Amino acid sequence: MRVEFYSWGAAEEVTGSKHFLQIKDSTIMFDCGAFQGKRSEADAKNRTWPFDAGKVEAAVLTHAHYDHCGLMPLMPKKGYPGNIYTTPASRDLASLIMMDSAHIQAKDLEYLQKRAKKTGESFDLKPLYNEKDVISCLDQFITVSYHRPFLLADGVKATFYDAGHILGSAVTHVEINLNGQKMDIGMSGDLGRKNLPILRDPEIIPPVDYLVMESTYGNRLHDPIEMAMDKLTEVINRTVERGGKIIIPSFAVERTQELVYFIHLLHDKNRIPQIPVYVDSPMATNATSIFRVHQECYDEETREAFIAHHKNPFGFNELRYVTSQEESKELNALKEPAIIISSSGMCEAGRILHHLLHNIEDARNTILIVGYMAENTLGRKIQEKQLEVKIFGDMYKLKAEVDVLNTFSAHADYNDILNYIAKLDYHKLKEIFLVHGEKEAQANLQKLLTEKGYKATIVKPGEKYQLQTG
Ligand SMILES: [Zn+2]
Repeated sequence: MRVEFYSWGAAEEVTGSKHFLQIKDSTIMFDCGAFQGKRSEADAKNRTWPFDAGKVEAAVLTHAHYDHCGLMPLMPKKGYPGNIYTTPASRDLASLIMMDSAHIQAKDLEYLQKRAKKTGESFDLKPLYNEKDVISCLDQFITVSYHRPFLLADGVKATFYDAGHILGSAVTHVEINLNGQKMDIGMSGDLGRKNLPILRDPEIIPPVDYLVMESTYGNRLHDPIEMAMDKLTEVINRTVERGGKIIIPSFAVERTQELVYFIHLLHDKNRIPQIPVYVDSPMATNATSIFRVHQECYDEETREAFIAHHKNPFGFNELRYVTSQEESKELNALKEPAIIISSSGMCEAGRILHHLLHNIEDARNTILIVGYMAENTLGRKIQEKQLEVKIFGDMYKLKAEVDVLNTFSAHADYNDILNYIAKLDYHKLKEIFLVHGEKEAQANLQKLLTEKGYKATIVKPGEKYQLQTG
């Protein structure tokens, strides 16, 4: 039986996830993510398509992050007629994220066209996809709950297990049984961490012969997530005491819901004063309603703290979801202490900009950084506490307190990954393929795994790896 594994994305890098299993004549694809990073480079890579979508027999989406689902709408456009299997929560979140991308692409294009018209340059770039493409892609989705086996191809069964990374995320256990020959393969997708709010801990899959494993933090250890509650409490109380506001730039999906959940718990325990909390991001509001309906993804703690008491984890008296722009602007006139959570996460666009502009020069306020800030972004400049930063073309003095809460990562660190692998059957596991990581992270994880007696291979883009039965 011929079985091959190869990747056309997230191989020796962290974005653009596209992994393939070739099982006899069937090609199974896992994720169709977009490349991110420097705009021109990422765009060129997203327009390169080194495989034949028409030959793919089945596609799986491991979770709804843009670097995993962002190019899925291109699959039908490129001739893929088959099913896209994912969990119900991932389907709903992916729909939101792919639609948002279609809107952003249309807006970007409009801007670039206008600019080209002014300068007289020729311009013929088209968006990768539009809203119609997203809708026709959604027509091909088949949702499958955790622990419900389904057929990917003849003799190839798959089962989703909770990856504990974002709502709906899954580790896929693939079971091949062809003409009496058997092989089990695990596809990690992105692996989460223990004790993340709302989500269950990553689930251990049944024994496998081969494991494809992400390695984003193969050289890092995170602070325990429990520290987030204490730090959040301190920051909020300190700021409220001096009469200030807490401004939190946050990604709309997952991070915002985690923050709302934590603040709700802190309110319930009377650890912070009952000040108003505003979530000012239409995308975050939409994402929260998806979180609200997918209670099947919640961990025990969330069920006990909220659901058992018929309470909404993402709603409480002091919390407002701001929708209209007028309402958003009204927040600028607020004089009393409040918490404002807004996006974009890296402060590059969106409503967070006017909240920063109105609050950054007041030393009573706090800007709380809760996510990754890429180089050259406004978020990174604030994180670095630069004395002055540019917002909407004008310079502002950074007088507000800046605090960084870096315990929120949704990815396993190297200890989490080693502990996960240690729970799999050592004798059955022949090889681990490392994907979704940068050079140093992958090299370190490979070294650690080798020391423990595993065969670990860093996957190169486009290279084919033979998997052996028996
Ligand atoms: Zn992810």
